[in-house]
Amino acid sequence: MNLTPINFRQRRLAGAVFVCALGACSTVSDPQTQTAARTEALCVRDQVSIRTDFPVGGQHGCALREDGFALTVWPEAAVDARINPSPWYAFSVEGNEEAEVNITLDYGSHRHRYSPWIKSGDSDWRKMKDAQVDVRDEGRIAVLTVPASDHNQIIAGLPIVSVADTDVWTREIAEHHGLEVVEYGQSIEGRSLTALTAGPEDAGSVVIAMTRQHPPELNGAIAFEAFVEKVVARLGEPSFANTRFVFFPMLNPDGVENGYWRHNMGGVDLNRDWFSLKQPEIRTAEQLIQREAAGKDMLAFLDFHSTWSTLVYFHPFSTPNTDSTFPMALKAALDEAFEPSPDWISSHNDGKGTSKNWALQTFRTPGMTIELGDGASRSEAERVGEITADTLFEVFFTE
Ligand SMILES: [Zn+2]
Repeated sequence: MNLTPINFRQRRLAGAVFVCALGACSTVSDPQTQTAARTEALCVRDQVSIRTDFPVGGQHGCALREDGFALTVWPEAAVDARINPSPWYAFSVEGNEEAEVNITLDYGSHRHRYSPWIKSGDSDWRKMKDAQVDVRDEGRIAVLTVPASDHNQIIAGLPIVSVADTDVWTREIAEHHGLEVVEYGQSIEGRSLTALTAGPEDAGSVVIAMTRQHPPELNGAIAFEAFVEKVVARLGEPSFANTRFVFFPMLNPDGVENGYWRHNMGGVDLNRDWFSLKQPEIRTAEQLIQREAAGKDMLAFLDFHSTWSTLVYFHPFSTPNTDSTFPMALKAALDEAFEPSPDWISSHNDGKGTSKNWALQTFRTPGMTIELGDGASRSEAERVGEITADTLFEVFFTE
């Protein structure tokens, strides 16, 4: 696994691109330009500042307290329904004062969900001690006690994995295992959308896996990466010779980089857009999947997420014209591996544009949304990914 934490001192740079195509010219802001407004400290008090101008920094307002700061924890603008309550926060505390500061997280009508992690300088991420976190007012307020020193510190809802970190993983795994990196589109802010492909283009079957439609759902990404690493380690074996694999490691780069709770820059939950295809991140992914799946049998369609506890959303095993052998085998394997066993929630709503519903209706493939618990350990998340890969091998690739 190589989920490298972000470089703390990384800063966005301003820039713009002058584009001419088919006789028309325009100035297109690059992703950095559109976030350049956040290059000032949110708050400064007694030589200690609060900043969010780094990749995956949260959406916060800031006020001064006598003994520190108060930060709002804001969701991004939402076009459709009320936003899913996944209040992400990520900010840095910088300064040279030795005294502690108290930081009040004000969730408004939402509630504290992610236990804070902290990273000082070049050290690894560690969980903040319980004694440093005081959750009040039924979760609507959390007061963090933070030692401020001359070492920079980032505090976030989970250890940060930025788009650049994921890109490093993508390029390394492609290089080590001979996978192809496909740039299949651009996000609204102009970030490259990247997938990995493996296996012969004219194979008879295809497997699709994806993650990070929802920015803070990091444990899902850990399971996804463990799944992919286990699969690609066996690609040279004869039983894989007739299968194509398409992996999407970062479906919502703009949401991730802007510290969003849920949506893309279009204010849309991407895992509701698979039928309407109004957002470029999903429209271009759908086009790639359609191209890759043409003439092939889709063996599996896996979408890795995180939620309150580890569980799987799936279709009823009795869904007509679908083969549920793989989902049933995966349920048995996860039941055996975990105590308590993960919930399996059977749901299918034709009108809801989730990836798994789209996979079922488009390819008759029983798509699965595999959710890791917010509090799952890294090893548990990796184990879910590995068990998913092992079960895939048993069902489809065992002679
Ligand atoms: Zn999700």
